Amino acid sequence: MADIDPDDLTVSELEDALSSVDDADELEAILEAERAGKDRKTAKEAIEARLEAVGGEAAPADGEEAEGAAGEAPLDPGEYEMAELGPALQEIEDVEALQAVLAAEEAGEDREPAKTLIESRIEKFSAEEEVEEGDIDLSGMSIADVANTIRRIDDPDELQALLDQEEAGEDRDPVKNQIRNRIESAEESEEEREILSPEEKYPELDHPTADKRHVRAIPDGDYGDTWVYCETQHGELIDVTKEMLGKARELMDTYNDDYDADERVVAVVIGGEGHAELAEEAITYGADVAVYLEDERLSRFLHKPYTEIFCDMARAAGHPFGREDREPEDWRDYDEPRYTVFPATNNGRDLSALVQAELDSGLASDCSDLFITSAVISNPAKTGEPGTKKTFERILHMKRPDFSGFEYSTILCIDKPDREFHPQGASVIPGSFDIPEPDPDREGLVVSHDMPLSDEWFPVGITEHDVLEGGVDLTGYDVVVALGRGIGRDPTKGIEVGLDLVDAFEDAELGLSRGVITASYEFAGHVADYVTEERQIGESGQVVQPKVYVAAGISGAIQHKVGMDESETIIAINTDPDADVRDFSDYFIEGDLFEVLPRLTEALQTGELNVEALADGGERTEGSRSTPERVSDGGEHE
Ligand code: FAD
Repeated sequence: MADIDPDDLTVSELEDALSSVDDADELEAILEAERAGKDRKTAKEAIEARLEAVGGEAAPADGEEAEGAAGEAPLDPGEYEMAELGPALQEIEDVEALQAVLAAEEAGEDREPAKTLIESRIEKFSAEEEVEEGDIDLSGMSIADVANTIRRIDDPDELQALLDQEEAGEDRDPVKNQIRNRIESAEESEEEREILSPEEKYPELDHPTADKRHVRAIPDGDYGDTWVYCETQHGELIDVTKEMLGKARELMDTYNDDYDADERVVAVVIGGEGHAELAEEAITYGADVAVYLEDERLSRFLHKPYTEIFCDMARAAGHPFGREDREPEDWRDYDEPRYTVFPATNNGRDLSALVQAELDSGLASDCSDLFITSAVISNPAKTGEPGTKKTFERILHMKRPDFSGFEYSTILCIDKPDREFHPQGASVIPGSFDIPEPDPDREGLVVSHDMPLSDEWFPVGITEHDVLEGGVDLTGYDVVVALGRGIGRDPTKGIEVGLDLVDAFEDAELGLSRGVITASYEFAGHVADYVTEERQIGESGQVVQPKVYVAAGISGAIQHKVGMDESETIIAINTDPDADVRDFSDYFIEGDLFEVLPRLTEALQTGELNVEALADGGERTEGSRSTPERVSDGGEHE
């Protein structure tokens, strides 16, 4: 019987005590007691090391032989249906044994869901590497670093040793509080909180994500740089791509100053012939590195190959789910990008969602602003400790309009104690940022990305194509008559009276608010062709600056305003005298558009009114319009 009961000692106390024990039998008894008691990895290693030092050899733990023997699986997965395999695997916590089960599955039935299940369990236990308290030196660590370090330690004794270390050292109150809180929660959780992947939790369900790996984190994952997906059209970088490159440059310049870092803007360029030159061009707009892949089959956006390529570029050599034959690149040493930015265009929206899901992270879509700073969070799902606050560093803050633009939300993509979320990804609304001046002298690294492209990613080949007539270009007209949901009482008639007014001007076109496009109005055939997204004005539509902008039945939501408030003269017609549009109109006509528009049309036709007279109004004040003239119901201005 051992004199030393390891349960009474911290690991460092145990190490001290062991140094005076020279008897191998006694050490084996201590090892047995540790295995039967707290079963701490670091404690067992200390005893085994001592045993070795005195010439003894540790006996294998019960069951260790069966489970741990090389290549011998503790169960034959082929004997289990999918629904039974999950519960059976719950019994196995040893990584080598799980690997043997995986090998047996691969050699046998080789079922994808079964392999995913086993792999996620392997991941879980590989990731649970204990942190040895002897390795941790708290001095010089920031409070955030301490918080991140101790959240992986569950042993109250080890935590206590760290608390002692801090008290004897820098003795910082916030650090001590962090450790005390952690001790409290470690002591509270008598039963270890077990976090299961969906595959483990619901093994009976043949759910659609069964073939998708559930990732908690890349163990010890490293992240770096801001990656910008550079959308191209007709062999050119589109404007929003340039805007994003400029914004990413600004973000990383500030980031590098704030965090004393040297992270870069990486442009991702995918497409057909000529994309190598576009990669060069991306450098002139602010990228430090441009990674490109050119292939004729990629000359049009196809979401499967584009997603595969982006993710392959994003996963560095050695990534757990990356290509095995991947060579390390000398331009980066991290596993995945820290941040990704995509355009909120049709293709960009498609790609951003697929890429972020494939990389097991989140996406804030349709953002209108981005900045990077730290965030203090108290949500226990993120901190892992109810009642505490935690500072998360280097968080991309992604601002987006919500509730139809009535308010803005800021979305944060924050790690959880048992799950990391990288890259932090956003798609941005075109027009949100300025296009930077290209700098032809800017230097950067252009990298050609080489990877096999599977034929399966190209199930459809494009043999011929027609270029459709260009859409409706509302820019360049003297007048835009825009209609909003105010037409709702009789939508067909509303469009008709709007078109009549358009015809009464010499150079005018019809525009629409998004409200009309998304409403489920029924239009008679002859006007239905006018109600298309191509005519939408605003943040996600066109931006116009005519001499005269007529906003009829439009409330003036911010997303509409940004598409028209640079117009020379704005005339709003609205039944609601308090409609927001009034704040940025030169003339406000309180009235029913079904009455006002025909009267304007008539006045133009009779020559009583002309575009110059209309455009003449509305002195503007700095940044906003002057108080608009109010013209009573149906009345015309002078
Ligand atoms: P409403 O807000 O319903 O306003 C109708 C107005 O008509 C009211 O002011 C009412 O008083 C008035 N009215 C009613 N009857 C009459 C009548 N008989 N005569 C005169 N006036 C009458 N919107 C855009 O327009 N463009 C965009 O690009 C755009 N992008 C968006 C992007 C995002 C990410 C989001 C979240 C929203 C976007 N929106 C956009 C939607 C925007 O927030 C508003 O919902 C939309 O502009 C409202 O359209 P509306 O003014 O026609 O309708």
